[in-house]
Amino acid sequence: MIRSVSHCPYCGHLSAGIDDKQLEFVLAPDHGDGQPYPHLAFVWVGLHALTRSCRIVSEGSRVWFWIRGEGTKLVPDMRKAPLAEYVSGICCDDEVEESHPQGEYRIGGASAGGREEERPGSGEFHLHLPSSQRVVAILDGYGIYGPDPDALVAEVRRFVAVITGAVGD
Ligand SMILES: [Zn+2]
Repeated sequence: MIRSVSHCPYCGHLSAGIDDKQLEFVLAPDHGDGQPYPHLAFVWVGLHALTRSCRIVSEGSRVWFWIRGEGTKLVPDMRKAPLAEYVSGICCDDEVEESHPQGEYRIGGASAGGREEERPGSGEFHLHLPSSQRVVAILDGYGIYGPDPDALVAEVRRFVAVITGAVGD
């Protein structure tokens, strides 16, 4: 089934979801033509599959990152993906205020815990993997939106280029 990831805070559209059978990212699941809704700048989704004893099962775990103008990619290692790390940091409030984008933006989606509070079963659910292993899946996912999402993407790219450039100095 399609699990919803994030609705647009401006117009309420379901901007992104995941197909929990195919383990695929689905942009704008309701209209299905692969085109993003107008306010969407970024989507970050983390799906983590756990055994009963809370061990991560890589077969059922994915991190997807969608960027307006670029599309979706899988992020196997967040430490090597500074843009994805920064975007998820803004959404989870890990980044300090000064490093947030200056342009107007809003955040959609929620952590697994937030989803569970709103609707039990939406942030944590059972999955049957193709290998027939049964796991518990934890779904965190956010979208970043703005009235001018292209400008927002450009601003965030510039900012991340500066901070990652500075790391090597
Ligand atoms: Zn919208």
